[in-house]
Amino acid sequence: MYLLYLDESGAHGGSPAYVLGGIAVHEQDVYHVQQRLETMLQAKLPDGFAAADFELHAQEIKSPKQGDPAARPPKPPSPWFQFDYRFRIDLLRGAYSAIGGYSCVNTQYPCAFFGAVVDRHYSDRKRRAYEEVLHRFDEMLGRLSRDGGPHERGIVIHDESTVEKNLQAWTQRWREVTDRIPGTLGHIVDVPFFADSKSSRMIQAADLVTFSLWRFYGLDRSDTTWIDGLWDRFDASDGHMHGLVHVNPRFRAGKCGCRPCQARIAPAISAAD
Ligand SMILES: [Zn+2]
Repeated sequence: MYLLYLDESGAHGGSPAYVLGGIAVHEQDVYHVQQRLETMLQAKLPDGFAAADFELHAQEIKSPKQGDPAARPPKPPSPWFQFDYRFRIDLLRGAYSAIGGYSCVNTQYPCAFFGAVVDRHYSDRKRRAYEEVLHRFDEMLGRLSRDGGPHERGIVIHDESTVEKNLQAWTQRWREVTDRIPGTLGHIVDVPFFADSKSSRMIQAADLVTFSLWRFYGLDRSDTTWIDGLWDRFDASDGHMHGLVHVNPRFRAGKCGCRPCQARIAPAISAAD
């Protein structure tokens, strides 16, 4: 069984792009990825602090809120607020190293990142992003089976703080018929489930992937700090990136030079544009 953990960014109005990102791991890797993040966090925290009290939420680590004691009810500061900027950025780098450098238990069951970045010009950007990511995850499961591995099925687990109410209905429909992308979600066993990011380091890993995409695609000036160590972790086969797609008007005109757009110039697996 494969588990695909997802998180989103840029859902607010005015955002230049909607970003959906995450990490797919075989069931036997879940414990090890979580332990890797937990161990990194505990090692970097000063004595007297417990890793369990800290959520690896990239935006919050980078820019923690100081809270507002005068508000009603009072807003407490972020637990990250007590640490200085240099410490927090170093810790964030540690978190990215932990997921970017993770080696899977069994190479027959590789870990893979997935993502879809959809330009704000598309009114159905959320649906497009989910459609792209879920089909790409499904396609990977089919490919692993075709390549001689056991037939693994997958489930999708999403951060519940950003619940998209339509997601389960969309997925149910895509399982039966799909309009934009050929093929059904034959390898995904059920509708997506939801989990609390506070209690799941795997959802926090998905947050790290999504944040790196947001910093690269969602700002006027691309920030490559966090994505640079992750590009090669997105699902790929035969040197061709499948796990990440950038849906934007500039692609059709051949004007986007980002890695997934360049990969898509080669034989495409969808009609995302
Ligand atoms: Zn692009």
